[in-house]
Amino acid sequence: MSSHSRKAAKLIRPLVQRLHPYVPGEQPKILGLVKLNTNENPYSPAPKVIEAVKRAADGRLRLYPNPTAELLREKLAKFHGCQPENIIVGNGSDELLAMAVRAFTEPLDGGRGRNGTPGPSKGKVQFFHPSYSLYPVLAATHGAKAHPVALESNFAIPALPKLKSGKQWDFAAALSFITTPNAPSGRAYGKAQLKELCAAQRGVIVLDEAYVDFARENALSLSLAFPHVLTARTFSKAYSLCFLRVGYFVGSRELIAALNKIRDSYNVNGLGQIAAIETLNCLPYYRETFCKIIHSRNHLSTRLSDLGFEVYPSQTNFILVRPPHFPAAVWLEKLRSKKILVRWFNDPILKDWLRITIGTEAECDALIREAERMTND
Ligand SMILES: *Cc1c(COP(=O)(O)O)cnc(C)c1O
Repeated sequence: MSSHSRKAAKLIRPLVQRLHPYVPGEQPKILGLVKLNTNENPYSPAPKVIEAVKRAADGRLRLYPNPTAELLREKLAKFHGCQPENIIVGNGSDELLAMAVRAFTEPLDGGRGRNGTPGPSKGKVQFFHPSYSLYPVLAATHGAKAHPVALESNFAIPALPKLKSGKQWDFAAALSFITTPNAPSGRAYGKAQLKELCAAQRGVIVLDEAYVDFARENALSLSLAFPHVLTARTFSKAYSLCFLRVGYFVGSRELIAALNKIRDSYNVNGLGQIAAIETLNCLPYYRETFCKIIHSRNHLSTRLSDLGFEVYPSQTNFILVRPPHFPAAVWLEKLRSKKILVRWFNDPILKDWLRITIGTEAECDALIREAERMTND
């Protein structure tokens, strides 16, 4: 290291020097790539949404957007049967997940807890494992303690008596994230079970419902019934707006007001607000795409099962599969060489599995054809 870079390195907080950042799925620019790695919706936004964004792209781009996404919050409030004060909009739901960590958890001694022991509950960011791999990064960034608790081997949330006797789950943790339906397994959790867990929990719970539009049930009403429960939703996955970054939380006025205190003034870009508002005018279009995706999910699951894949039942727009014959990491590379990109996680629990986003019918067929070839070789 040159003395120049040594000087620069010393300016960085030790916590940040040690930090392992979140690794998002790749976004390679390969012509003709079948991209099934980041759970994007394969169908374009409704034509009216695209028109609305185009109409707004004029000289008004020089102006700041509405700071509180007021019109969008009013529309969302009507949609969910609550008040605009129960809603905060973020630059993607990821921004709000990070804000929840900052608003509800205490950073601990260098993020390690005192004497290297697990920190007390008020510094804990708790989540089930496996789930969204951003949560531990958010905890580490804040200097809070990431507290993963194992799911059952079939990705179920352990029943409440088991959580209570197991001593792993901390009912007083400052903040708990529950991905529901779960990612990367695709497994959904019933509202009754989530309600029981929420009732027993004393810290804040965020129900991360990023994929709930592809599921049979949602639990958003819990965030209007309990003062300590927030539901996270996003326009990215089901509503084809990843590019514009719009997500939101629903919850009690008190928790939403707390989050607003630490929100950047203009956190949600204007084109994103316009696109999200128009999306809510086009819900029948999106319901049709959900049906298409669910249909393709069932078709792909059946075909891959026939080829010897273990397919985990999914209520999301992706499936988790254990491929036959070669290790999952080899499948990843073989498929990539055929311009089909899926996701593999370098994690002891997940290393034998691939997560495959449901694409268009043609994309699913391309994957099935390659899988047929590879299993027959
Ligand atoms: C994609 C995803 C998000 C983030 O969505 P954005 O609104 O695009 O930030 C949050 N939680 C889970 C589980 C996700 O998969």
